Amino acid sequence: MSTMEENLVDTKMHDHIARVGREVLLGRSVSREDMLPLFHLENSSDILDLLSWANRIREKFKGNKIHLCSIVNAKAGGCSENCSFCAQSSFYQTGSPRYGFIDPEPVQDASEEARKNGVTAVGLVAAWKGLNEGPMLDEVCDRIREMKEGGKTRPDASLGIIKKQAVADRLKEAGLECYGHNLETSRRFFPATCTTHSYDDRIETIDYLKKAGISICSGGIIGMGESREDRCDLAFELRSIGANVVPINILNPIPGTPFAGNAPLPVLEILKTIACFRFILPRQEIMIAGGRTVNLRDAQSMIFMAGASALMVGNYLTTLNQPVEKDLQMIKDLGLDPNWENHGFVDQENRHPETHAVAGV
Ligand code: SF4
Repeated sequence: MSTMEENLVDTKMHDHIARVGREVLLGRSVSREDMLPLFHLENSSDILDLLSWANRIREKFKGNKIHLCSIVNAKAGGCSENCSFCAQSSFYQTGSPRYGFIDPEPVQDASEEARKNGVTAVGLVAAWKGLNEGPMLDEVCDRIREMKEGGKTRPDASLGIIKKQAVADRLKEAGLECYGHNLETSRRFFPATCTTHSYDDRIETIDYLKKAGISICSGGIIGMGESREDRCDLAFELRSIGANVVPINILNPIPGTPFAGNAPLPVLEILKTIACFRFILPRQEIMIAGGRTVNLRDAQSMIFMAGASALMVGNYLTTLNQPVEKDLQMIKDLGLDPNWENHGFVDQENRHPETHAVAGV
């Protein structure tokens, strides 16, 4: 191919990105056919072009507000499920801590710490298959109620699979507004990540929560060995289930798990994926969660140019993050606003409160 022809091909992709970007800015939904070539971009100029459009889309729909969330590991380790990325599964020897459901004090301390840092929501995250009616549900509801009454941050939760409408209704009554439940990946790739429960178990849980009037925080993990098509399909699946908040985790391979030897994704691949999600999910909070520091290193601040509008701060469930002060400085240095007095998500265009988030890993 001559240089002139190569330039023509580049121009075609530039035009395609601009056409799809304009469609999104005009409030139209993009198609899988439009988006798949963008997930496949290889050339760094094209990827930076894509990021620049994703940044405009974030600005139009989310303004300059960056929403902060954090999590508390409310019950750690010994999980009955075999998710291949997870340090807390009882199937793998990982050295991850194990303890039962936590008392009120550590939850209150986490809420206080979060409030000091301008964090909107603290998610109670439990390493177990799911939540049924019974004494444990009572205890969970107590913690949620205490957090709500404490008034320091909004209580979120990520408590696994729900099999009954009554459980979702009880959580709502206790004051829960948002539940984190990731789809993790595409329907096609899911069985390669977990065989102890199904994709449909996850979708069904989300249906119960939505019927209870609880907002949905649902996203996934990239870097597990899935294809670019799988990432694209995940984003469209999240659009179709009506996720309000979409956490994107980047695999941090944990020694002892089946994915321990996975090669890390290149930084531009990660940023491109975030940008593609912003095109498909323009009004949702796109939150960068687990694996950010280890995978993006000095490029962390570029997540906002790629379209991210929310950040998981503080330590993750089983791995460490960079200090919150550093995250806050990074956000302010970019002219973005991490102080979110409204304590709710706002769609910049429609000015309606949305929801908030927790990450599922
Ligand atoms: S991701 Fe959740 S359900 Fe899966 S093993 Fe880990 S704690 Fe258990």
